[in-house]
Amino acid sequence: MQTQNIVKFIESINNLDTKSYSLLKEAIEKRDSIKFVSYLLNNDEIGSNKCCPYCDSRSYNRWGIRSDLQRYKCKECGKTFNTLTGTPLAHLHKKGRWLSYAQCLIEGLSIRKAAAECGVHKNTSFRWRHRFLQNTNKIKPQKLTGVAEVNELIFAWSDKGNKRLKRKSRKRGYKSATQIPFKSRVFTLFCRDRGKNTFDEIYYKFSAYNIKKDLSSLFAKDILFCSQNKAVYMKYTKENCIRHGILSIPKNEKIRKNVVHIQNVLEYQFNLQEWMLRFRGVATKYLHNYLSWYREMDEFDHKITPETILIRAKRPERYNTNHFR
Ligand SMILES: [Zn+2]
Repeated sequence: MQTQNIVKFIESINNLDTKSYSLLKEAIEKRDSIKFVSYLLNNDEIGSNKCCPYCDSRSYNRWGIRSDLQRYKCKECGKTFNTLTGTPLAHLHKKGRWLSYAQCLIEGLSIRKAAAECGVHKNTSFRWRHRFLQNTNKIKPQKLTGVAEVNELIFAWSDKGNKRLKRKSRKRGYKSATQIPFKSRVFTLFCRDRGKNTFDEIYYKFSAYNIKKDLSSLFAKDILFCSQNKAVYMKYTKENCIRHGILSIPKNEKIRKNVVHIQNVLEYQFNLQEWMLRFRGVATKYLHNYLSWYREMDEFDHKITPETILIRAKRPERYNTNHFR
């Protein structure tokens, strides 16, 4: 727009009625938020170390701007890409509302409430939720030190959302884990050290052999593995020569006075289950996303910002999505 026209446009703002003014204000805010999100995505520290998502080359040129995102052209393979190519956020629209949606994730709003809050369709809200959370499953602690409290939680297999169920639907679920038939059990293992670093993993078959695959490099050499007196843990610690503190609480003694206790991991599990009540059951195929969602909030002591969620969601690593072993 030419300078003269801009001056005329600015002068005309004073003559706008209330409805027109609020429409204009809304449009400017929307444009600002798109620009801000694009700025965040183009300039985060991960983006500055980027390489071509097709051939991993670090040799590329700038190649114009499209949809407010800087585009690049790889000198090796000749393909073009932007900061979102190859990430879970690729090809998602309405960037201006992503930060509001990240705020809805922090508040743990339901799909429909988040959709209403951000002015998007409920299907979009569902897609965004799982795209935003897709990467969090990769951000797990690499090492637990000192005392590791270990315990498992049993969920019933859930086909929530599946419209082609091959079995009779359950009406009320199960009141306790012991009521769940063995074939329908999904095990989640939680390991939490006293520094509040938490590792979790899902297992369809809970055995010493299966947990060994994930835990082999997780524990520091001098770790004290605290758990209940269960065959899986006994076998795992014995085979891997790990110090095992077996939970045994004499009567009338305060639990936390002993070094060997699992109160922290039990508290984490309790809070997780409380938090998950709002979703009224989650599909087993998405369970890892909900575990990661809660773990991420716990990692930041429930003070995570929408900007952090957005930047974490666009990590370009690729990983195996098969969570069941
Ligand atoms: Zn390339």
